[in-house]
Amino acid sequence: MDQNKLKEEIESIHERTSRSENKGLITCWNEREFFEEKTLDAFSIIFRTRGCSWSYSSGCSMCGYYTDTNPQMDEDALKEQLNRALSEYEAQEIVKIYTSGSFLDEHEINEKLALQILEAFDAKKIVVESRPEFIDAKKIKIYSKKVDTLEVAIGLESANDFVLKNCINKGFRFKDYKKKVKQISEHASIRTYLLLKPPFLLEKEAVNDVVESIRKVKDLTDIVSINPVNVQRGTLVEKLWKKNLYRPPWLWSIIEVLSQAEASDNAVFISEAGVGSKRGAHNCGECDDDLKKIIQDYNQTQNHKPFKDILECDCRERWERESDIEPFLFFRGTAELLRSRCPGIYRR
Ligand code: SF4
Ligand SMILES: [Zn+2]
Repeated sequence: MDQNKLKEEIESIHERTSRSENKGLITCWNEREFFEEKTLDAFSIIFRTRGCSWSYSSGCSMCGYYTDTNPQMDEDALKEQLNRALSEYEAQEIVKIYTSGSFLDEHEINEKLALQILEAFDAKKIVVESRPEFIDAKKIKIYSKKVDTLEVAIGLESANDFVLKNCINKGFRFKDYKKKVKQISEHASIRTYLLLKPPFLLEKEAVNDVVESIRKVKDLTDIVSINPVNVQRGTLVEKLWKKNLYRPPWLWSIIEVLSQAEASDNAVFISEAGVGSKRGAHNCGECDDDLKKIIQDYNQTQNHKPFKDILECDCRERWERESDIEPFLFFRGTAELLRSRCPGIYRR
């Protein structure tokens, strides 16, 4: 999609969608994660902040996190949220802190409070998320002293600038990510999020985009975390999905990405959010639970072996066939190109 049109569409959806008035913690939960050759307990928290600064001026095509955020958020309420999270914390060794935006953005969480939050958890590793523009090497050096391993997670989504600009409206380029990663990798571990199937990509293109992105970030990141798109409320992706112009990725595409990523030296995780549901990555409905289990086991062990003799289902052939046919069904050139290819058939 033309970038200006994409921005306009996203902005008009945001204008018609309300944010939250709640000041409490969004949620926290326990999970297991593979770290240093072991599967450890992890505690994840989503703080409700004023939200991602990029979502105020524009926003990403698949991101509906802003709907949970509150523009009136204040420091006292954030401290209350920290207390609430601490009351649920059971000394898990990994703590993941999400804010529906950037932990390193002073507009969301100021530096003093950020330090208090990092000091509050007795974890081996704390993961915080940020867009590249809020990453400051000096600050990361200070923060990294508060925890054994500080991990900075960046939502790169794709290492392809065309996709970042015309499919996601990410607002930064691959070189911005690279620059910041190089500045901080001495002090922090790096986790890179990649998006599987942004809007306007065909199924095969989406698989190739993630595989190619994994290759490009190989020497820059410690961990790759793949987010298969799940259709969130208040997004352009939701608008397209409701018009049958978008289908979340097949679970077979996730398996394909993981099979091709096996050669990568990095740990590669798959986000399980929405997996197996109508709005998330799914297959035919018959095999979804089994594949979800395989993905969950893989996340906890990083063992690729189950992909070699994976269960078969009739929908695998359908996925293959549809992925092959899809490029012929969608012509995405200009009207002029179509006219020149089909003179006499296509008229004004
Ligand atoms: S995906 Fe990340 S950067 Fe994009 S709008 Fe959502 S929170 Fe902001
Ligand atoms: Zn199936």
